[in-house]
Formats: sequence, structure tokens, C-alpha cells
Amino acid sequence: MSRVNGKTVIVTGGARGMGAAFARRLIAEGASVVITDVLVDEGKAVAAELGARAMFLPLDVTDETAWATVVAETERAFGPVSGLVNNAGIVHVDPIERLAEADYRKVIDVNQVGVFLGMKAVVPSMRTAGNGSIVNISSIGGIIAFSNILGYVASKWAVRGMTKAAAQEFGADGIRVNSVHPGVVATEMTSESERSNSMVHDQPLPRAATPDELANVVLFLISDESSFCTGSEFVADGGYTTK
Ligand code: NAD
Repeated sequence: MSRVNGKTVIVTGGARGMGAAFARRLIAEGASVVITDVLVDEGKAVAAELGARAMFLPLDVTDETAWATVVAETERAFGPVSGLVNNAGIVHVDPIERLAEADYRKVIDVNQVGVFLGMKAVVPSMRTAGNGSIVNISSIGGIIAFSNILGYVASKWAVRGMTKAAAQEFGADGIRVNSVHPGVVATEMTSESERSNSMVHDQPLPRAATPDELANVVLFLISDESSFCTGSEFVADGGYTTK
């Protein structure tokens, strides 16, 4: 299969979970993939498993200087960047009255500012490539709300809006920007009980998603099959938000 043949894609938070699944799927479909993460050993292991079209680079998505290095090294290894998956994310659970300002800001910094810095860093390279696709991983927490995760909900709603604003700015350059909104996915971010709680049981497809099911959505958005899609939300939540 070669649905993304010849494309060069950066995946943030690619050392495990959904990010690793995205990297595996994109490699299998012909892309070169730069896996980035703050988890260096895990990221290197994923890249080693995926062969010559995969490379690991350390990246804290909140660090603008590090973003410039990643883009430069990606271009040197594989040519201009044609895809970016802004996937790195964290969650902090606390009711609002007990939520420390520092914990709120940390979530905003990684989930929201990291997405801004990623888009800013890759766009000049995408212009060189002549086209591009940016996929921002939001959440159903960016469409509806959940209690006890205020920073997460704020950041994921922001990512949804930023995606639309960026789609407007970059459309004329042939650069598309879309957001993906997973429901509960079986990764280290979710506990066993979260994957089998009443939220999941009450949705039309009563189970958690696998990371591979989200990788199918990301593959479509990075590929040219989604050539007329920009500024849109792609929800994969087992129907949770129908209620
Ligand atoms: P995960 O915790 O397994 O993976 C997140 C990755 O991001 C980790 O490898 C982590 O090291 C990395 N990361 C964290 N902070 C970083 C930073 N500052 N710089 C670079 N990398 C950093 O979780 P996941 O479920 O695979 O989450 C991936 C994305 O999907 C996140 O944005 C998350 O909010 C979103 N999401 C997850 C679910 C779910 O149920 N798991 C649902 C909706 C949305």
C-alpha cells in the first residue's frame, strides 16, 4: 500500500500510544516519519523498529528552538515537511477549586501552545514542499465538556478553533489543517476503569477505540484522499457525542 508515498511527516508524542500507532501506519503506507517526544528511549525504540524511513528526534513541543532544530533535521534527512501530526498531549485531573494555576498552565502549554509552535515551525517547509497537511489531535473534550479536567477541555476547544483559523491562513498555500476528536482510546492516558466506565458503555459503539482506529483517520487526513478537507473536525468517538 502507498497511500502517503513520498510524504515526510513529523509526529509529536510519537513514542507510545496513538502517536506510535500513527507513525507505524504512515510508514506502512510509504511515508518517511520523524517521531518526536520527550520520552527519548521509547521514541528511539519505535523508530528502530520501523526501519530506514523512520527517525527519532527529541522534542518538547513547548520549546520553539527545539522545533526549529527538528524541522531542519527532518529536511536534511527526508526533504521538506509535507505532514505534521500535533499529537503530544497531557491531562491533569482536579476539580476547579483545587486546580493549581501551574497545573492549569502546564496543560495549556503542552496541548495548546505546543500546537501553535508546531504549525508555525513547519509551514515554511510545507511551502517549499508545495503542499501540506497538518492534523491537530483534539478530543471530544474539544466539542463537549467534562468536569475535573478544565485545562484539558480549554486546550482541546482551543485546538479546534486554532485549526480553523490556521486553515484560513494557509489554504492559499495548499496547506490543509484539520482536527481529530477521539473518544476514549486504549492508551496509557486512560485507565482500565475509564475504558470500561458508563461513559463508554452508554455510547452507540460501547467500547474504547484502539489507537489503530485513530491511525486510519490520521492516514486519510495526511493523504491526498482528503484533498478538499480543511478546517474541519473529524470525530471518532463510537457515537458518544450523538447524545
Ligand atoms: P499517551 O500519554 O500515551 O501519549 C502522549 C505522548 O505525548 C507521550 O508519549 C508523551 O511523552 C508525549 N508528551 C507529553 N508531553 C510532551 C511534550 N511537552 N512534548 C512532547 N511530547 C510530549 O496518550 P495518547 O492517548 O496516545 O494521547 C495522544 C493524544 O490524543 C493527546 O493529545 C491526547 O490528549 C489525545 N486524546 C487521547 C484520548 C484517549 O482516550 N487516550 C482521547 C482523546 C484525545
